Amino acid sequence: MDLDLSHEQRMIRDTVREFAREVVEPGASNRDESGEIPLAIMQEMGQMGLLGLPFPEQWGGSGGDTVSYALAVEEISRVDASLGLGFAAHVSLGCSPLYLFGSDAQKSRYLTRAARGEYLAAFGLTEPEAGSDAGGTSTRAQETADGFSITGTKIFITNAGHAGYIVVTARHGEGISSFIVPAGTPGLSVQCNYRKLGMRSSETCEVRLDDGHVPADHILGEPGHGFRQFLEILDGGRISIGALGVGIAQACLDATVAYAHTRRQFGRTLDRFQAIQFKVADMAMEVELARNMVLKAAWLKDQHRPFATEAAMAKLFASEAAMRASLQAVQVHGGAGYMRDFPVERYMRDAKLLEIGEGTSEIQRLVISRAVLGVR
Ligand SMILES: Cc1cc2nc3c(=O)[nH]c(=O)nc-3n(C[C@H](O)[C@H](O)[C@H](O)COP(=O)(O)OP(=O)(O)OC[C@H]3O[C@@H](n4cnc5c(N)ncnc54)[C@H](O)[C@@H]3O)c2cc1C
Repeated sequence: MDLDLSHEQRMIRDTVREFAREVVEPGASNRDESGEIPLAIMQEMGQMGLLGLPFPEQWGGSGGDTVSYALAVEEISRVDASLGLGFAAHVSLGCSPLYLFGSDAQKSRYLTRAARGEYLAAFGLTEPEAGSDAGGTSTRAQETADGFSITGTKIFITNAGHAGYIVVTARHGEGISSFIVPAGTPGLSVQCNYRKLGMRSSETCEVRLDDGHVPADHILGEPGHGFRQFLEILDGGRISIGALGVGIAQACLDATVAYAHTRRQFGRTLDRFQAIQFKVADMAMEVELARNMVLKAAWLKDQHRPFATEAAMAKLFASEAAMRASLQAVQVHGGAGYMRDFPVERYMRDAKLLEIGEGTSEIQRLVISRAVLGVR
């Protein structure tokens, strides 16, 4: 058993850590306040090869593995979870469907540009009446003489406002199919004006298709296989949400340790109180556990072995660990933690999304218990 990262994995982690500290962290708090999407930073990430990190060079990617990608998401999210979310949604939700199910022509036309960072990519699954029950989609695709006409509304879609294409699921014939909907498609409109609790500098949009017309070769993979496709896409996406959780939890631990060393009460710094020491011990243990779970799920994926249950466990544990860590980080900061002068209240608001997006904690427990019990 080898728990060491490879030379390449360490190099990617260290490069992204330095980039995160120098380029991403300085404006993170202001962007949270203003809701500004860090497009210039994302462009830079594209130039560094991060936006196509786990895809082959043939399709514009960097040829990295899932472990390296998870480490990169963790490092970005440690300083700016909003950017971590935009990054993870682009790679795991926007690019992966093309990589997994696209034809060579679709990959070469769309994945290559997204992986190089020429534009962002998005995945439209959730609808007003189809959230956890994503198979309950009511968006419809009708065959026309030269393609498909799609009508329906998708909500809460990350990156959609700046996406070069959105992969959209729609009812089609007896089943569900996925379609590539390029930006500028007639009948497509995107509005990104949600007012959010956290992840405020990540773009979240409503996507409407009103007789949106796409050519016949824009159906993704086998017609009618959309349900199976999105389950597989979400399995991979859960590794990146887990990594996001590890990043936030680590940031909470870092902030708590730094504050406990300096804040004095009753003539001593906080780190001398056992109540605070035990909080730090629990946080450190959960960060360690969450990171191991995420990296194990990523490693299984890289070995082409089954990883869905491990990914669900990693996502569930890491997102709940991030939430617990952020609550404790605010607590250790006392009144100061409640103020915007310290980043811990942002970590707390951002962490909450992880228990909801890409399958809520309840849905992860369904996925895990079904695998363990062997029942549907
Ligand atoms: C910031 C943000 C970004 C997002 N980005 C994207 C994106 O890029 N693409 C996309 O398609 N979607 C995206 N989503 C949507 C997200 O995946 C959904 O919000 C999530 O899956 C939950 O669906 P819902 O909001 O409809 O909640 P609901 O499904 O209505 O759930 C409400 C509550 O009921 C519980 N519940 C539901 N069913 C069950 C059950 N069977 N058993 C037990 N409990 C249950 C849920 O766990 C939850 O607590 C995003 C959401 C947010 C907030």
